Amino acid sequence: MARYTGSVCRICRREGAKLFLKGSRCYTKKCSFERRPSPPGQHGVRRRKVGEYGLQLREKQKVRKTYGVLERQFRNYFNAAENRPGVTGENLLRTLELRLDNVVYRAGFAPSRPAARQLVGHGHFAVNGVPTDISSFQVRPGDKIEVRESRKAREPFKVVKETLRNHQAPEWLSVDAGTLSGSVVTPPSRDQMPLDLNEQLVVEYYSR
Ligand code: SF4
Repeated sequence: MARYTGSVCRICRREGAKLFLKGSRCYTKKCSFERRPSPPGQHGVRRRKVGEYGLQLREKQKVRKTYGVLERQFRNYFNAAENRPGVTGENLLRTLELRLDNVVYRAGFAPSRPAARQLVGHGHFAVNGVPTDISSFQVRPGDKIEVRESRKAREPFKVVKETLRNHQAPEWLSVDAGTLSGSVVTPPSRDQMPLDLNEQLVVEYYSR
């Protein structure tokens, strides 16, 4: 499957915001965005005027890259969100939040979304007892996500057991640190998705 393999810190600098793609490093002074917040490239420090379209485009890219989704899939998510009852932007964010890789990240089983995606891809997780390695899998309320029994003794999960003690999972998720499992209690509402994103600009971008 196609995916971006370049420097992820470059993405933060391009979007002008911290997207927390590198786990613990993002919270230290080593964060590239903290050290050099200008856009990447030779002419990055030049001041540019951004119009309405530019703002909408950048916000769309920011949302898409936060969740590590490619353009076509993101467009499909938007189309589905538009066809569902409710507010389109909120529907879109909810769909993204309920991707299996994001749920794994939010539950605290991985330090970042890209790391969660890798762990899911390596088949470490099961949903409702069924091994699942598809990071875009849509988790539904009531679904149980757990680290597979045979994988619990592996190195990444020894670390996770330690870090989970200090992890604050969102209200829409219940996490059991002892069994390395969790479940979605309710679909997240907008105020339960602490994201510095303006989804309305994404809606405007696709409604041009
Ligand atoms: Fe972004 Fe994290 Fe890199 Fe900082 S360290 S630029 S927040 S990915």
